[in-house]
Amino acid sequence: MKIIAVDPGNVSGVAYMEADLPCGKDPRCGGDNECLFHGDGPYAGKVLMWRAWEDRPFEIIGAVETWISSADTLMGTDDKLVVCESFIPRPGAHSWQPDALYTIGALKYLCERENVEFALQSPANAKKFSTDAKLKRIGWYIRTPDGHTNDALRHLLLAAVKIGVVAPEQLIERSVPEGSIL
Ligand SMILES: [Zn+2]
Repeated sequence: MKIIAVDPGNVSGVAYMEADLPCGKDPRCGGDNECLFHGDGPYAGKVLMWRAWEDRPFEIIGAVETWISSADTLMGTDDKLVVCESFIPRPGAHSWQPDALYTIGALKYLCERENVEFALQSPANAKKFSTDAKLKRIGWYIRTPDGHTNDALRHLLLAAVKIGVVAPEQLIERSVPEGSIL
């Protein structure tokens, strides 16, 4: 499974990952109890690679286009999902971000043309779910001046957990250290 997430704006963030799907989510496997594809016992899935950066909007759209057309995946599967932050224009000069709208339109077009799944996610949901603490926990925290790289990573993480390629337990700090006598 490949997922790419975009935080659109006059500086856009982008983040992508490739993951091996867990049992029950992978069409090639037999489910939790009788999976022969993954060998003995249920397989929990694994993030195989990820990358994130920020750039001008048309550079990011170009990167998504290249990503969509790249056929080779580490797992040989070709399931792809493009996720983008939704943008609802509100009155007022400061909130008007045409670059965000242009980017959403361009990505929708690319996905329609290439028959790739496209989903919008609200900024509020991404920020609420994918906190800095969770990004740091999974090792996906990349500080940049305006935070667009991390915002793209927040959307990537939200989508990855929804799909099941990242387990929520991976994001929670243990309250009692391992080996503690408590
Ligand atoms: Zn399996």
